[in-house]
Amino acid sequence: MKKYDAIVIGAGNGGLVAALRLANNGKKVLVLDKNIAPGGFSTSFMRGRFEFDASMNSLHEFGTKDNPGIVYKLFEDLNIIDKIKFVEIKDAYHVYSRNSKSDYIMPFGVESYIDKMEKYVPGSKNSLEIFFKISRECYEAITYLETNEEEISDEILAELYPNFIKFAILTLSKGLQLLRMPLKAQEILTANWSYFGSPSNTLSFVHFACMFYSYIAKGAQIPRKTSYEISLILAEAIEKKGGKVQYLSTVKEILFENNQVSGVKLVNGEEYYANYIICDISPHVVYGKMIPEKILPQDAIKLTNSRVLGSRGFSIYLGLNQSAEEIGLNDFNYFIYHTLNSNKEYENMNSIKNNNCTAVVVNNANPTCSPKGTCVMQLMTLFTGDCFDSAVSVENYFDLKEEIAENIINSFERTTGILIREYIEEIVIATPITFARYCGYPDGVIHGYKATGPDNLIPRIRNSVNENYIKGLRFCGSFGMYLSGCGSAYLSGNRAALDVLKEMEHEGENE
Ligand SMILES: Cc1cc2nc3c(=O)[nH]c(=O)nc-3n(C[C@H](O)[C@H](O)[C@H](O)COP(=O)(O)OP(=O)(O)OC[C@H]3O[C@@H](n4cnc5c(N)ncnc54)[C@H](O)[C@@H]3O)c2cc1C
Repeated sequence: MKKYDAIVIGAGNGGLVAALRLANNGKKVLVLDKNIAPGGFSTSFMRGRFEFDASMNSLHEFGTKDNPGIVYKLFEDLNIIDKIKFVEIKDAYHVYSRNSKSDYIMPFGVESYIDKMEKYVPGSKNSLEIFFKISRECYEAITYLETNEEEISDEILAELYPNFIKFAILTLSKGLQLLRMPLKAQEILTANWSYFGSPSNTLSFVHFACMFYSYIAKGAQIPRKTSYEISLILAEAIEKKGGKVQYLSTVKEILFENNQVSGVKLVNGEEYYANYIICDISPHVVYGKMIPEKILPQDAIKLTNSRVLGSRGFSIYLGLNQSAEEIGLNDFNYFIYHTLNSNKEYENMNSIKNNNCTAVVVNNANPTCSPKGTCVMQLMTLFTGDCFDSAVSVENYFDLKEEIAENIINSFERTTGILIREYIEEIVIATPITFARYCGYPDGVIHGYKATGPDNLIPRIRNSVNENYIKGLRFCGSFGMYLSGCGSAYLSGNRAALDVLKEMEHEGENE
C-alpha cells in the first residue's frame, strides 16, 4: 500500500501539476503536504464576510480561448480548463512616482500600450515597437524550448530566433539601452520589476521581455473563485485518476537504498516508498535537511549555496466596507514607488521603513468577489535584504508588523490621495515569518531564488539537465528552473513530471 511510482513533496502549484501529469499517464502517485489543504501560496482564507486570495493577484502566461498562453494550453492538456472560470483584468497597471509627483496608467494590448507611452514620452514609439517585436521573438523561443521534446542546439536557436540569442546575455537595463529607449519610457516600462523581485540591472532582458510580452499581448486573468479553486480542482483531478493527496504529512527525510532514492519518511515516522521524488520545496531545505550528508553530491551543495535567496514578502489584506467606486479606487493594479528607477528602489527596499508597495483592488476585475457595497484590497511590499530579520524579535513582532502596515497604508493614501483607512472592516497582516511558516520558504522569501547575473532564466533552463545530481530526484515550483510565479510553478511541475516519465520509460526499456 505504501509503494508508489512517484512521490511529490508539497501540494503547491508545481507539485499538483506534476502529480496530475503523472497520474494522467497512469502512474501511481502520492502527494504529501504539511498543510491541511492543497495549493501552498495558491490558497484563500476567510475573515468575517471577506474571502482573500493569499497570493494570486494576476495569472500571467494564461490568455484566453482565442489568444491562449502557455499556461492556458497546459490546463487544456491536463483537462481542467473547462472547470475554472477566469475574469480579465482591464488595465495593465497604474504606477506612481512619489518624488516626481507623477503617475502613469498603462493599458493591455501592444498597440494601445505603445500609443499610450508615446503620449507620456513623445519620441518613444520606435524603440517600443522594436522592444515588442524582440519580446515576441523571445516569447516564441521560450515556448519552443518549453514545448519541444528534443534537445535543441544553440545553433538551431540562433537560426530561428536570432534576437533571442543576441539579447540572452543582457540585463534588462543593458537591453533597453541598446534599443535606445528614452529613460523615462524605460522606467515606466519596467514598473512591474517588483513582481520579479529583481531590479533592471540584474534581471535578464529575456526573462522580463517574455513575461511582459505575454502580460501585455495576452492580458492577465484571475480565477473568479480565488486561486484556491484551481488548487482544489487539481487535487480532485489527481484523485480521480487514482492518485492520492495526503495532508498533515510533513516530510522529514528522503530515504535511499544503495545510493538510490527509495522513499520518504514523515515527521511522525511513517514511511512511503518510490524510486522517483519530485520536490515542490526548496533545494536549500532538501539538500540542507532531508538528505544524509554522505549521499549529498558536493556539486549540489555548491550550486545551492551559490544561489541568492529572493526578496522577503510582506502583505496586508484589507476588507473594506464601501465599494471600490465609492472609495475612489478605480484601478486594479497600483505600483507606488519613490522613484521609477528600479535599481535605486531595490536598494531602498532593504529597510523596514521603505514604504513602496504594490496594491491590488480585486473587485475591479471581479466585482462579485466580496459582498455588495464592499471591496477587497491587497497591499504588498518586499524586503530585499535581511532588514526584517534583524529588526524583529519575539517581543516586538506584533508591534513591528502593525508599524510597517501603518506606514504602507499611509504611503498609499498620501501618494494616491485615496483614503482607505476609515473603511477598513477586516485587516490581516502577513510577514516573512508567516510565509516561512506556511510554505517552509527559507527566511520568508516569496520569490524563490533571485534571478541575477549568470543565474537567470535562460541559464537555468539550459542547465537544468545538469542539475539532476541525484537520480530520481527532481525539483519544481518557485525554486525551479522557471523561477517564481504561479504560471512558472505550474509549468515547472509539468516539466519535472515529463522528465520523470521519460526516465521511467528509459528504465523500462533497459530492464
Ligand atoms: C503574497 C504573495 C503574492 C503573490 N502574487 C502572485 C501573483 O500575483 N502572481 C503570480 O503569478 N505569483 C504570485 N505569487 C507567487 C506564487 O504564489 C508562487 O510563486 C507559487 O504559488 C509557488 O508555487 P510552488 O509550486 O512553488 O508551491 P508553494 O506555494 O511554495 O507550495 C509548497 C508546498 O510545499 C509544502 N511543504 C513545504 N515543506 C514541506 C514538507 N517538509 N513536507 C510536506 N510539505 C511541505 C507547503 O505546505 C506548500 O503547500 C505571490 C506569492 C505571495 C506569497
